Amino acid sequence: MSAGDASVTKPVPVPDEVTAPFWEAANRGVLAIQHCRACERYIHPPAAVCPECQYPDLGFREVSGRARVYTHTVVRDNVTQGFAADEPYVIGIIELVEQERLVLVANVVNVAPEDVSIGMPLRVTFERLNDEIALPQFEPDEGD
Ligand SMILES: [Zn+2]
Repeated sequence: MSAGDASVTKPVPVPDEVTAPFWEAANRGVLAIQHCRACERYIHPPAAVCPECQYPDLGFREVSGRARVYTHTVVRDNVTQGFAADEPYVIGIIELVEQERLVLVANVVNVAPEDVSIGMPLRVTFERLNDEIALPQFEPDEGD
């Protein structure tokens, strides 16, 4: 099989003890971000202790799903199997509105790659990969 074989399935995230609440929320169509009860910072990717204050008892909090493009790149020839059918597609560094520099790596979807720009308003949407994993992605926020 080659990288250009569209029948090859994409790699699927495997939740672990720390990331499980993120994926459980996503599976319900909710974006939940790890949050420190001690210093009130959001944390992503999920960590065992707060990177700011080392507080160990971290929870998850539902966020708005509103975001903007921090930066992005267009992928035209991914060597990882399973992505050929999507090319070209946009990988974004997505900054959530809840906190400066609170960023996720996700695809920007439902828009032509050449129309994606830095600062563009986005909202979360979910791409279902299987019964347990729905991948948070972002699409243009038309403000409705
Ligand atoms: Zn903290």
